[in-house]
Amino acid sequence: MTAQRIFLSPPHMSGTERRLVAEAFDTNWIAPVGPHVDAFEREFAAAVGAPHAAALSSGTAALHIALRLAGVRPGDEVFVSTLTFVASVSPILYLGATPVFLDSDRQSWNMDPVLLADALEARARSGRLPRAVVLVHLYGQSADLAPILAACARHGVPVVEDAAEALGATYHGRAPGTFGHAGIFSFNGNKIITSAGGGMLVSDDEALVAHARKLATQARDPAPHYQHSEIGYNYRLSNVLAAIGRGQLRVLEGRVAARRRNFACYAEALGDLPGLAFMPEAPWGRATRWLTCITIDPAEFGADRDTVLQALEAADIEARPVWKPMHLQPALARYETIGGEVAEDLFTCGLCLPSGSSLGRADLERVVHAIRRVAAPALPRHAIHATEAALLTR
Ligand SMILES: *Cc1c(COP(=O)(O)O)cnc(C)c1O
Repeated sequence: MTAQRIFLSPPHMSGTERRLVAEAFDTNWIAPVGPHVDAFEREFAAAVGAPHAAALSSGTAALHIALRLAGVRPGDEVFVSTLTFVASVSPILYLGATPVFLDSDRQSWNMDPVLLADALEARARSGRLPRAVVLVHLYGQSADLAPILAACARHGVPVVEDAAEALGATYHGRAPGTFGHAGIFSFNGNKIITSAGGGMLVSDDEALVAHARKLATQARDPAPHYQHSEIGYNYRLSNVLAAIGRGQLRVLEGRVAARRRNFACYAEALGDLPGLAFMPEAPWGRATRWLTCITIDPAEFGADRDTVLQALEAADIEARPVWKPMHLQPALARYETIGGEVAEDLFTCGLCLPSGSSLGRADLERVVHAIRRVAAPALPRHAIHATEAALLTR
């Protein structure tokens, strides 16, 4: 029998989801409204410690609405992390605004607070402040919120947090996504929990969240006929998908623990390899290790990132490079970038390893073995056996 393909971050159902979905069918709430949507919003808000939440059709939709409610209009500029997934940027363009990309720091791989503070100072002097900052919390780790919020507050620039990858993380004990003007989360299929597709917008501002719900349902005014004083979107989450999300939310803590265990296992089994390093965990909080990310220094490791990627693919293991920075994307290269070297370097040498919460010990061993084989020429054979033995006893 051949071994099965190992995926990067597959969905991991707990069993409860099926019962909750059946409840949606039994009560015929097969619609973008219903009791599961309301309950999911309440339970999610409680889980992240936000006063208010609106369940939406995707994280991208949530960011689109959050930016619109932050006042972003055609011609405005919006600062955004360059090292991210394209969905952090697309909504800026949907609104006719212009992204300006900011580099990461090496400590967290997220937006560099010093670079941001300097850029805002310079912009304030020339009277060209951005309308908003989209702050991304990458790969399950919070950005350094305190200096970033302070710099933005000094200039009156709202922060919209893209916490799509960071559900379950903490920053000094609190959830990233709950600090800014608004925050967004994603329940896409590969995120730490999934509703098969969906998103959430959270904010302290009750009126903002109510407005988000209205915009997400075609901005219908409270009138007996269909009346619209502004133009909205069809962005509400389905009651069926909210049922899946509720089931997943109940096991979130366990999913974080499982992903952190994957990371610990990789760190123990690969940590001795020269030229291989792990994404650091910043001192300000708990990273979920949504994805375990490594960097490969080809001179020391003896092979480059792409060689490792190919070796994993040959072993039927899905891995992928760290996000290609937005300022290097053909569709976005014409926009201004502040810095960029750190993100470029992380893209060149960074690799995301299989990190699903359902990974078993045998799966992890297969990944470790495939990586060690690429580096193996430099290592004595007994070293390989020693680390594999360590895996077996974990
Ligand atoms: C997944 C993701 C999104 C978008 O979420 P969807 O639910 O897929 O629309 C936005 N930003 C980042 C950083 C993401 O990883």
